[in-house]
Amino acid sequence: MTNNLEKKLDSLSISNLEDLFSESYSEWFCSLKGNEFFCQISPTYLKNVESFEYLKTQFQFFDLALEIITDQESKVLEKRSNEDNEIIEKESVILYGLIHSSYILTDEGMEKMKEKFINGDFGECPRLLCKNSGVLPIEFQNDISQCVKLYCPICKRVFYPPYKYMKMNGTYFGSQFPHLFLKKYPEFEQTQEMEKYQPTMFGFDIHEDSAIYYKPQKKNEKEN
Ligand SMILES: [Zn+2]
Repeated sequence: MTNNLEKKLDSLSISNLEDLFSESYSEWFCSLKGNEFFCQISPTYLKNVESFEYLKTQFQFFDLALEIITDQESKVLEKRSNEDNEIIEKESVILYGLIHSSYILTDEGMEKMKEKFINGDFGECPRLLCKNSGVLPIEFQNDISQCVKLYCPICKRVFYPPYKYMKMNGTYFGSQFPHLFLKKYPEFEQTQEMEKYQPTMFGFDIHEDSAIYYKPQKKNEKEN
């Protein structure tokens, strides 16, 4: 074990070691457990500071939070109190999330989310007949909890995410993301009729004319 570690360390050149310590905020943030829905925002997009100015009023330490996520941390942070640093750290996450919601609507961001969708990073639809279809993160309107939800392109329903994602804010993805994603990549949308549950008895389908056939009524039919 020790020999293996020594061999690995020996094989690392100085440039390799530099790489180990040069992880960007994006890379670090997206690698955290529970952040699997996020894609890495490109440094070029993050440098477009003017585009994020409109968010400034929502933050106590906007400039410092921006410095952190663009890997330009200055010595200023060292002079701040622990309390301030805690707020700055939280605001960095929020700022990254809000910028992320607009980045994933760009061609580049959309492409990265497509790769994540194909990899199954967003999980699968819990509906059995969707047969493990991939889902997309969405901010579902009229939901006061604001936690991210998951949209299934097959059954077109919205679900709560697994427990570990229940604290993730849906605004980091936006309400329009799945719609624009499927417009750009229609190959992922279900065009055929959605498979529905077919009642059976002792292994045989129940004919609609049978006395034991139960036909769910539509709301209007019930009222009539
Ligand atoms: Zn589904």
